[in-house]
Amino acid sequence: MYFAVITILPEMFSAIRDYGITGRAVQNKQVVIDCINPRDFTTDNYRRIDERPFGGGPGMVMMAEPLAKAIQFAKSQASQHGCRTQAEYCPVIYLSPQGDKLDEKTVMSLHDYDAMILLCGRYEGIDERLLQRYVDMEISIGDFVLTGGELPAMVLMDSVIRRLPDVMGDAKSAEQDSFVEGLLDCPHYTKPHEFEGLTVPEVLLSGHHANIAMWRFTQQVNRTKQRRPDLWQNFKPNTEQARLLKKVNKK
Ligand code: SAM
Repeated sequence: MYFAVITILPEMFSAIRDYGITGRAVQNKQVVIDCINPRDFTTDNYRRIDERPFGGGPGMVMMAEPLAKAIQFAKSQASQHGCRTQAEYCPVIYLSPQGDKLDEKTVMSLHDYDAMILLCGRYEGIDERLLQRYVDMEISIGDFVLTGGELPAMVLMDSVIRRLPDVMGDAKSAEQDSFVEGLLDCPHYTKPHEFEGLTVPEVLLSGHHANIAMWRFTQQVNRTKQRRPDLWQNFKPNTEQARLLKKVNKK
C-alpha cells in the first residue's frame, strides 16, 4: 500500500517509518510512506505556505496553490508506484477535526484502496477552496483539536498498516483486539504469577482451553457492558460468540 503524506513537518514521520511494526512493514516493502513538503512547491524566497485570513481574525491559513501542486505531485508518485490515481483507488484524505470519526470499520474500509494521499493541516486550517477541489474525504481522530494533522495521519496509517495481511507477527493478536469482533478485549496477564499481592486468575493457569476461552469471552462481555454500553447495544454476535453468549446467560 502506498501513502503520500503532505506535510510541512516531514521529519515527524520517522516515528512511524523507523520504529516498531510499522517500521518493519516499511522495511519489508509492504508499505511505502512518502512525505511531500508543500514548501517545495512555492515560488517565493521564503517558501511561504500560509497567509492571513480574509475577513481578519487570529491565526494563519494554509494557501491553496502549494497544496494543490503537492497533491498533483503525490498522484504522480502514486502512479510511479503502480497505483491507480482516481479517487476510487487513491483518495485525498484531509485529517480534520470536522471529518468523520475514525473507527475500526473505517480503518478496514481503507484497505480497499491502492494508495492514499494524506493532507496534514496546520495553523487555522486550509483554504476552503482547496478542500472543495481536491479532497475526497475528511477524517477526524476525535472530538478535540491538535496543532496539526501529522499525528492524526500517523494514527490513521498505524491503524491501517497493522491490519494489512502479514504485517503483524501473529495475525490472531489483531483479531482479538477491542472492536474487531464488536467487543472490548479481555484482560491479559503474564509472569510473575504474583505481583504486589495480586495473583493471576486460576483458570488461565489450568491449561483447559475451553474454560479459558469461556472466561475470556465472559470478561469481554462484562467489560463491554460496563465501559461501552453503546458498543454492547450494537453488538451482533457471530456464530461462535452466540454459542458462548448462551452459556454466559445460563450462568
Ligand atoms: N480551526 C480548525 C477547526 O477548528 O476545525 C482546527 C485547526 S487545527 C489547529 C490544525 C490542523 O490540525 C487541522 O487543519 C487538522 O489537519 C489537524 N487536526 C486538529 N485536530 C484534529 C483532529 N481531531 N483530527 C484530525 N485532524 C486534526
